[in-house]
Amino acid sequence: MLNIVLFGPPGAGKGTQAEKLIEKYNLVHLSTGDILRAELKAETELGKEAKKFMEKGELVPDSVVIGMIVAKIDANPNAKGFIFDGFPRTTAQAEALDEVLNKKGTPISIMLALFVDDDELIKRLLLRGKDSGRADDQDQSIIENRIKVYNKDTAPVIDFYDDKNKYKAIDGVGSIDEIFFRLCEAIDSV
Ligand code: ADP
Repeated sequence: MLNIVLFGPPGAGKGTQAEKLIEKYNLVHLSTGDILRAELKAETELGKEAKKFMEKGELVPDSVVIGMIVAKIDANPNAKGFIFDGFPRTTAQAEALDEVLNKKGTPISIMLALFVDDDELIKRLLLRGKDSGRADDQDQSIIENRIKVYNKDTAPVIDFYDDKNKYKAIDGVGSIDEIFFRLCEAIDSV
């Protein structure tokens, strides 16, 4: 089983690369952002609760996203592996994921962290906001808050995987294919 954490700040290209990776390696894509947006759209209780945080660029509480991701793992018993995209975003989430996967005997294989400088991130997100309709991509102050939250709460997740020798830094600047090649090289060396 190949379980990958695709990591990086908002706008780093996780979603784009995840789409290509799931096809090549035959994996199930679990994006907490996508799952939360689907809940929002369906106006579920979970979606209504999450909306309050998402529209400010804050993190949705750990208990909510952890429960959500565990349910999705359990719903895919025949998966050849998963790509976790946008999760874990806090050390508590990383610990919870570790516990669940270890219990199943299918731990994380590698954590791939995409690096892109802040100016480029803001540029990419504002561009995405123009045609995606995502409200959180259309307001520069919300984008800046998401990057701030990333640096404060999410970046420490790197240490969690580094301590387990599973962390690999990937340059996230370049063409989509160049970055895809870098990711595949890292995966194939696991
Ligand atoms: P991006 O990475 O571009 O910010 P995502 O689609 O991954 O976008 O997430 C959008 C929003 O959903 C985040 O700003 C946050 O509010 C919420 N979210 C997504 N994943 C998580 C998570 N693992 N923990 C807490 N909140 C999350």
